[in-house]
Parts: sequence; structure tokens; C-alpha cells
Amino acid sequence: DTVSAPYSLKFALVPSTEQRAETEREAILADPGFGKHFTDHMVTIDWTIEAGWHDARVTAYGPLQLDPASSVLHYGQEIFEGLKAYRHADGSIWTFRPEKNAERMQRSARRLALPELSVADFVESIKQMVAVDKAWIPSAPETSLYLRPFMIANESFLGVRAAHRVGYYVIASPAGAYFADGVAPVKIWLSTEYSRAGRGGTGAAKCGGNYAASLLPQMEAYENGCAQVLFLDGETGSHIDELGGMNVFFVRGTDTLVTPRLTGSILEGVTRDSIMQLARDRGMTVEEREVTLEEWRLGVESGEISEVFACGTAAVVTPISQLKGKGVSIGDPDAPAGDITMALRQELTDIQYGRVPDRHGWLT
Ligand code: PMP
Repeated sequence: DTVSAPYSLKFALVPSTEQRAETEREAILADPGFGKHFTDHMVTIDWTIEAGWHDARVTAYGPLQLDPASSVLHYGQEIFEGLKAYRHADGSIWTFRPEKNAERMQRSARRLALPELSVADFVESIKQMVAVDKAWIPSAPETSLYLRPFMIANESFLGVRAAHRVGYYVIASPAGAYFADGVAPVKIWLSTEYSRAGRGGTGAAKCGGNYAASLLPQMEAYENGCAQVLFLDGETGSHIDELGGMNVFFVRGTDTLVTPRLTGSILEGVTRDSIMQLARDRGMTVEEREVTLEEWRLGVESGEISEVFACGTAAVVTPISQLKGKGVSIGDPDAPAGDITMALRQELTDIQYGRVPDRHGWLT
């Protein structure tokens, strides 16, 4: 079984001969933005149907050479992940629950008919990247190194079938504070015309095609002054799935946290799972269930739903002030961030940045 056999790969290191000077790096780290600058190195691991995973290496960051017939370019057989490394006050560097990303990538791989990389090899690839480019991890508050593992079908073959040749890569990009001027509530656009996933589709997988399909509704969101799109379930169009790149939560009363259950069309966020645990730790009741648009509207009107927020690796926890859409407006665009939202955000970032003990063993 070449597809799922566990491998324990040895990574060869071929250091970049063109590493950027410290002054250039420091200038980038002073204002990294998001996803614009990349570190000096990258990880590559090859897979073929005959040999399985092999030739793991850390080399200079640089362009990939792809045959124009590479299947990823035609049929989108591609998956990716996103996680961060955080620099603690003592200078040590930590990633947050990387094994969860590894497991999710395995689930995505299964859905996209790509080979699975073992959890151990995934985590090792992350460690290798962080170790070789640790100078690229900024130290200002709320900054981090964003790690982007991805896997592509790179067999030169135009037949429509799972590729026999695949590449796994990791690149890394320093990330600035998402909310440099303090956490600000955002408005969200309700997509009524487009859905992100359907029954039996790829909604639960982190594959490029899901994001390609979200770009048009995302443009609609921007045109309407909103930060992200909210997608309803593709089947009934009446209940909440998730945002284009974040999961969504509702605070009912003062002690209940509600989030849409995993139906196969929602991405299982690592932040989502962590927030649910932190809420239980504070004695809150956590409900994973269907949430209708109607429940949101009535709950906000009656005051029963006191806070709404989104969560994901990039922006951690983001308060939602208002949902807007064609003929829809729920909430007050000027509403401040909720107390429970902000407390959960603080608790999570305190763990990630090592300001409190890692009681759940989430850091690697
Ligand atoms: N939903 C979608 C569609 C996403 O792209 C992301 C970001 N990976 C999330 C939810 C949040 O997942 P995580 O907390 O693992 O970043």
C-alpha cells in the first residue's frame, strides 16, 4: 500500500547560497504584512506511485519547474494547509497543534485522491522549515511565521485520473499583526447566489478549488464594504456553513457557545476545535448543531444572541458586528467586540505566545 504506508523520511539540507542580508530581512520583518514575503528556504518531498514518498529535502526557496501538462494545472488536484510558528518572550519558537493540520491534510488528500503524508513526516517538515529559517520569525506582538504546506499532482498526463506523480512542499512567510490597531469587528456579506460546497463535494477538504469558487462572492463582499463572505449550506440554503476562510460561532446568553456542526461541507478548523475546548474550560456549554439564518436574526433581535465571531489561524478570533446581504441585515455595524469573544481570543493567543502554561499540550 504505497499510498498510506508510514514513512520516516530523512531530510537533506542544501542551504541557500543567496540568503538575504540581515538588514533586508529586518526591513521585511518590521512590516511583513501577510503572504507577501517568503523566507530563504523551502521543503520538497517527491512521491511516485512506484516509490512512495522519497527524496525529502530543504533547499533554497525558488520557482518550481512544471511541465505544462502537469495535471494540477488542468484538473486542480491540489491541497494545502496553513499554520503558524510563534516566537515566545524567551526566544524559543513553537507551532500550535501541527498534528491537527497533518491529520486534516490526510483527510484532504483522501478526498482529492492524493497520497497521504504521515503525521510524523508532516510535523518534521514543519520543524525543518522553522529550524532553517528561524531568523525569519518576527518578535513584535501578534506576529508570527505563517507556514504553507501544499501538495500538487505533477504528472505530465492529460488523462483524468489520480496522478502517479505528486509533490509536497512547504513555504513560509512572516506575518504581521492582523489587527495592528486593536481588534476591530467586521461586517460579513451573505452570499445568496453562490455556495461554496454541496453534498458529497469537497467542502471539508482544504483544496484550491474551494477557494477559487469563493473569489467571485468575495469580490461581491468587498464591493459591499464587507470583509468576508458567509456561505449557507448548499443543499437547503437555510443554515449557516462558514465563511470563505473562517469558522463561525454564536454566543447565546452568557454561557452557551454554538457553532455549525461538521456536515461534510465545512472545513474543520483547528482554531474552531481549540475555541470549543477553551469555552468548555470556562464552564460554557458548547453546542455543535445546525444554525439557521432565522435563528441568527431572531436571536439578535431578542438579545438572546449576544455575540457573533469568526475564527481561523490567520486572524485568530474576529468579532462580527453585522451580516449584510441582498435584503438582509442582522446586527449593528457599530457594535463593539463582545466580552466573551475577546476573552476567548486572549486565552488562545496567551497559549500560542507562551504567556500562560500550555495546559492542553498544544505547542510543539
Ligand atoms: N474554514 C475555511 C474555509 C478555511 O479556509 C479556514 C482556514 N484554514 C478555516 C475555516 C479555519 O481553519 P483553521 O482554524 O484551521 O485555520
